[in-house]
Amino acid sequence: GPDPTLRPEAQPEDTDRALRPQQLGDFIGQAEARANLRVFIESARRRGEAMDHALFHGPPGLGKTTLAQIMARELGVNFRMTSGPVLAKAGDLAAILTNLEARDVLFIDEIHRLSPVVEEVLYPAMEDFELDLVIGEGPAARTVRIELQPFTLVGATTRLGLLTTPLRDRFGIPVRLQFYTAEELERIVARGARLMGVPADADGLAEIARRARGTPRIAGRLLRRVVDFALVEGGGTITRAVADNALTRMEVDELGLDGADRRYLRLIAEHYGGGPVGIETISAALSESRDALEEVIEPYLLQQGLIQRTPRGRMLAQRAWGHLGLAAPRAPGQ
Ligand code: ADP
Repeated sequence: GPDPTLRPEAQPEDTDRALRPQQLGDFIGQAEARANLRVFIESARRRGEAMDHALFHGPPGLGKTTLAQIMARELGVNFRMTSGPVLAKAGDLAAILTNLEARDVLFIDEIHRLSPVVEEVLYPAMEDFELDLVIGEGPAARTVRIELQPFTLVGATTRLGLLTTPLRDRFGIPVRLQFYTAEELERIVARGARLMGVPADADGLAEIARRARGTPRIAGRLLRRVVDFALVEGGGTITRAVADNALTRMEVDELGLDGADRRYLRLIAEHYGGGPVGIETISAALSESRDALEEVIEPYLLQQGLIQRTPRGRMLAQRAWGHLGLAAPRAPGQ
């Protein structure tokens, strides 16, 4: 039967799998990571060996899974996928590892959420392609060593800081994914519109790209909604007016911020005088988990210069006051 610890390739929001780039050449942006990966893939192919383990880190939706799938395809090997939270027992990981074929790519999403016992199994597997399994219990327990096929582990995490040092040290290839520029997102959105067969003006595509929060997954989602509005209420073409109307109705503002982003900023402005305020306080006030704030909301606000992280907590930057249409309080001594 299907292995419950392997999640299906497509995420629910990601129904349009056709939009996923299939080759390194189709993958737009992340130029530095792409150039390096090309070398490592080619070298592994020439040597006929498994590529070294790679760790992809960065906010959600920037292409970690996509890049790992492309790696497997370019290496000419199978792609298997699982995630940290679903690997509850050592045996769950062992079952996956023993089923890998030579040089396969195993992708573990949210690898910072592996349990310690599972992580212990992973160390010798990564280092020596060996598995030490404990069979039986009590005095009858014994350890058996199983040889594995050489494989490439690709770990993905939104929170590099939560990885244990021993795990982090076992990845030969660390790759940091960056937010995309508006120009890169424009090319991604243009490609998406082309694949969906929807005509689009350059201005309309640029409007979607500019408001996609630097993130291809969001660009894809916004594109699909703009297409809905273009078909039903516009003339069938993605223009700036259609895109602007659709995005405004979806409450995506000029900077690409959504309701959750604005709630975060407004809370600090209106209830804490612009901060500093601790993350736990923000989390409680917004009823959002601290993880969601740190992984999803804050990276883009930081990158946009809307907030600052200080030792005493989060603070609104000047730009955020302007964006909210509020006057910044005058700091003492300024
Ligand atoms: P992550 O694993 O980092 O959360 P994914 O790899 O699942 O992100 O990518 C999210 C979505 O964005 C996918 O639908 C994918 O097709 C699209 N995507 C990501 N990176 C790119 C890119 N460079 N070019 C085009 N589409 C991309």
